[in-house]
Amino acid sequence: MRLVLVGPPGSGKGTQAELLVKRFNLATVGTGAMFRDAIARDTDMGRAVGPLIKQGLLVPDPTVNDVVAELFRGPNRPERFVMDGYPRTYAQAVSFDALLRQEFLALDAVVNLNIEDDEVVRRIGGRWCCTNPNCGVCYHVAARPPKVAGKCDVCGSPLSQRDDDKEETIRRRLGEFHKNTDDLLVHYRKQGLVDDIDATQHKDAIYENILAALKRRRPDEFK
Ligand code: AMP
Repeated sequence: MRLVLVGPPGSGKGTQAELLVKRFNLATVGTGAMFRDAIARDTDMGRAVGPLIKQGLLVPDPTVNDVVAELFRGPNRPERFVMDGYPRTYAQAVSFDALLRQEFLALDAVVNLNIEDDEVVRRIGGRWCCTNPNCGVCYHVAARPPKVAGKCDVCGSPLSQRDDDKEETIRRRLGEFHKNTDDLLVHYRKQGLVDDIDATQHKDAIYENILAALKRRRPDEFK
């Protein structure tokens, strides 16, 4: 099974990727996670992409394409995978198509998680996380409020909003997402690969709908 997951920040892409990884024994290829790791390790790339990510801007296509190509051409190239956050633009999709062709790997499906912008803002904008690096528990003003406002239930440390969880940043990321994703989806629709999934439902329902779509494409994976 080889999948691409497409959806705005806050659509539950990461959660669904995790479930699919377990179900089909896949590798997750998450470019956002790869960049966050590079930032944490303070590598040259991490220092280059850090400021862009903080502002909610996309990392330039050639940089992302190189990171992904390096992985797929390396000794530990994934054979069965779910792409989480890549490709994000038409140019990335074209580059990824070429890379997969060279590696004799074909995609099975592009799962498109649909959700309105305002719902995304409500979801992510309400998220506050513990500032204690050894704790890091996250709360939500509506869905999971802390017992004492602004304080972690577990360790009592102050809560703060991640820079990229602030409304202004989310709106900017959503703007970038829409600007880039339309062409990307047109590209994959032409290849007949896109499954559209309503991402406003509960995560279990979203997962069931994804499985139903995948079963139609790869019944052999469900035996
Ligand atoms: P994510 O965890 O997927 O939301 O990614 C976090 C941030 O990393 C994004 O807001 C971008 O700045 C950057 N990023 C991750 N994947 C890509 C990509 N495929 N193309 C460009 N930028 C990316």
